[in-house]
Amino acid sequence: MEKYLCTSCGNCVDICPELWKIDEDGFSHLKGSIKIDKNEGIELEDLECSIEAAENCPVACIHVYEDEEEIA
Ligand code: SF4
Repeated sequence: MEKYLCTSCGNCVDICPELWKIDEDGFSHLKGSIKIDKNEGIELEDLECSIEAAENCPVACIHVYEDEEEIA
């Protein structure tokens, strides 16, 4: 997730509150993630919720990969 692109719309939190929250800085944060450069990342078993969040992010800053291939 490219946090620096987030517009704080809240869509990801509405769709997938177990994974996303609006952080103290006002931008979305991927819970339990690690920082990779300017991005946040996490490994997940179930991708369904993340895919829906990615498809509803207005600035396309959520990316979902499976077997190193971007699927959303
Ligand atoms: S859907 Fe995208 S722009 Fe909206 S809060 Fe989540 S990460 Fe930020």
